[in-house]
Amino acid sequence: MSTTNLETIVSLCKRRGFIYQGSEVYGGLSGTWDYGPHGVTLKKNIMNLWWKTFVEDRDDMYGVDAAILMNQKVWQASGHATGFNDPLVECSHCHGRFREDKIDTSKCPTCGTKDSFGPAKQFNMMFKTNVGPLADEESISYLRPETAQGIFTNYKNVVDSFSPDLPFGIAQQGKAFRNEISPRDFVFRSREFEQMEIEYFVDPDNWEAEFEKWVSYIADFLDKLGLPKDSIHNLEVEEADRAHYSKRTIDVEFDFPHGRDELLGLAYRTDFDLMNIQNNSGKKMDYRMKDGSKTFVPHVIEPSFGVERAIMAVLTSAYTEDEVNGEKREYLKLPEHLAPVRFAVSPLVKNKPELVEKAKEVYQALKKKYGNVMWDDNGNIGKRYRRQDEIGTPYCVVVDFQTLEDDTVTIRDRDTTEQKRQSIDSLVKS
Ligand code: ATP
Repeated sequence: MSTTNLETIVSLCKRRGFIYQGSEVYGGLSGTWDYGPHGVTLKKNIMNLWWKTFVEDRDDMYGVDAAILMNQKVWQASGHATGFNDPLVECSHCHGRFREDKIDTSKCPTCGTKDSFGPAKQFNMMFKTNVGPLADEESISYLRPETAQGIFTNYKNVVDSFSPDLPFGIAQQGKAFRNEISPRDFVFRSREFEQMEIEYFVDPDNWEAEFEKWVSYIADFLDKLGLPKDSIHNLEVEEADRAHYSKRTIDVEFDFPHGRDELLGLAYRTDFDLMNIQNNSGKKMDYRMKDGSKTFVPHVIEPSFGVERAIMAVLTSAYTEDEVNGEKREYLKLPEHLAPVRFAVSPLVKNKPELVEKAKEVYQALKKKYGNVMWDDNGNIGKRYRRQDEIGTPYCVVVDFQTLEDDTVTIRDRDTTEQKRQSIDSLVKS
């Protein structure tokens, strides 16, 4: 279990403009969250790092962006339409509804009544809708509960357009929707969330070696997110708990504030998905090796990341408390490449136009170079530092009277709180 308290993270996220309750002004909508200016930048930084690591920096990956609404046959063939269920139990006393496998059913977690739960019912988590003006059986569609099916349905398109060498992967990022019975633990279990998924197509004779490679690619990526190694636990999922088609699954767990829980999954899914599509669509999903040695339906290794859980892990790892000049300080020790704001620039005082003008110049130059640079002249310097610490800004740049003489500024380091002078030139060029 992490020593960071969940309430502390939730309140920092709200106070500093990272994450707000969805539809808050109307009393909220359970399981939905809105990202504020710093939250959306943090989220994009994580998603862009993932895309760069797993798509742009590799030669064997192809990105797609499939529609969220898909033909209902996709979800019938994949089994989601009938089988994407969680066990629902209801307390006979307070009528609270819970996911059976997430609570101790001997006592209601809300009202405390003992033995108030009857047998579980299967609850389908798909959000159903109708496409077009007629609401009939034919027009049924669903908000996708995973991005993976949008990858499988484009497997043949990518093979036909790009003739990739096997093994190769198709990657997608995007929204997924699950009508979770009880959303909880901040963004950890949401009803609308974002996934980053890869289907990596392999020769079935070689799946074990490829799977091992993915175990280490994932560890490297989590390292780039700044997650401490001792908070990450690879749980080999027992055969009885795996999907029937999976021969190996690892749940990568993290020590979240609410306890150890799933951060992402890595599963060997055999040829289950492509064979389902082949059988239901009548279209061949074969892959022919370039040397003509064999033709087969590829098997699949699926690393499946959740963006919200990555954000929670990053915030949990970054949250730090220390003491500065006898006062408690809270700050986010975010890796520089993830921080929503890289530099905050301000004049020492606001009422000296020559300082303000010079500070604006420095701000513009840094912004041109780095993009995520913030102008922050609210309150006194001490307050600015506290605020930027809470956002996780690695460097605060202050323009003072000496700047007007020698073109140097003070740079204050978030982690050490030390200040040093540096020339504007070297800062903009470094
Ligand atoms: P859980 O057992 O926690 O419900 P799962 O095993 O059903 O998760 P998968 O179907 O494997 O999850 O989804 C892949 C990833 O998507 C998860 O590892 C997680 O990061 C993310 N994810 C799944 N459901 C949610 C949700 N309700 N809210 C936020 N992220 C989610």
